[in-house]
Amino acid sequence: MNGIPVLCGLALAVNLAAALGQAPSPVSAGAATVHAGNRILTGWGGGKAGDVVPKAAEVGFSELVVHHDDAANFEAFIGLGKQHGIGIYAWLYLGDIPAWKKAFPQADPPLQVMSPDEQETLKKIQADKTPGKSRYQFGGEPVNEREVLETPLLCFHDPRVIDAFKKQIREMLSFPGVKGVAFDYFGYRNYRCCLCQTSQMQFETYQNKHPGLPREQALERFSLETLVDFNNRLSAYARTVNPEAKVITHIYPVFLAEPLYGNRLDLDVCTQTAAWYFEPFWSTEKIKAYAHIIANEANRYHPRPHGAALIGVGRYPLKSGERLTAELQAILDGGCPRVHVCSFNDVLTNPEAAKSFHNFFGGNYNPGF
Ligand SMILES: [Zn+2]
Repeated sequence: MNGIPVLCGLALAVNLAAALGQAPSPVSAGAATVHAGNRILTGWGGGKAGDVVPKAAEVGFSELVVHHDDAANFEAFIGLGKQHGIGIYAWLYLGDIPAWKKAFPQADPPLQVMSPDEQETLKKIQADKTPGKSRYQFGGEPVNEREVLETPLLCFHDPRVIDAFKKQIREMLSFPGVKGVAFDYFGYRNYRCCLCQTSQMQFETYQNKHPGLPREQALERFSLETLVDFNNRLSAYARTVNPEAKVITHIYPVFLAEPLYGNRLDLDVCTQTAAWYFEPFWSTEKIKAYAHIIANEANRYHPRPHGAALIGVGRYPLKSGERLTAELQAILDGGCPRVHVCSFNDVLTNPEAAKSFHNFFGGNYNPGF
């Protein structure tokens, strides 16, 4: 695992009180102490505002990320959110072909391009209809030798993509009371680079500027630097539209050369995966180690960002309440008080999951906004 230190010396201590449903106490994690009052729970999902917001408030969510396409529903989210002390973000994602069409109705979307081998891998993944898809990780850290993302993504090396997304951001921030924008799917479909003509031309220029770098290393650096730059330019743009707007992101799909690159992004909250959805479930040692890096190295490059740890919650495979409690406790033990969960709908509709999150974030633990 690149960039992840060996953490054999860290003791794992799952809080039994929390596992039993009692209120967890503040936990020490090296230099950082996570107090209950610092905890912030953010959820990504959808649904009707009236069905979601009151329940989310009960569980202890402080923030929700939802799509803004249905303007009336989005306004209802903001209005109900205000009543319940929940900030609402608009969800901006790199697979948003309709957003492209809105900005450039006459032009084909510039989609990312993969190698023939990667296309072959994609076909195999798409043909696999078994329930666990042979341990395919859907954009998380791969378990199998080679994986790619099923979802087509726009190539952000094409300058028109940033223009289309600026238009989206203006539209999103025109809703009165919206807390900000949330980036998602900002990455590469093959988790490495894009091989379209635009990307290849820009890479050639990059190589000419860095003649000393071996090709593979240059491609890795070009791909990471341009990805970071795309995030940072859009984040800075959002602040020019509304200086009060917050910009948050979830690092996804994985960037293989440096999975925890999120602290390079100059935005308000950078969420990085600490406990992925699928089997094999991540060990609590790994969750704690990632949470520690996410929280403690958040300001390595920029003073602005807070680090947040993402827990994946889906319907298959289902995580038990006990499992979720152990994951949440490992994140707090790692020193990370900000937790994101996707999807919040899968928490709200599952009483066992809702209880686990409520035990850490509900009632007095909700700082309110
Ligand atoms: Zn490209």
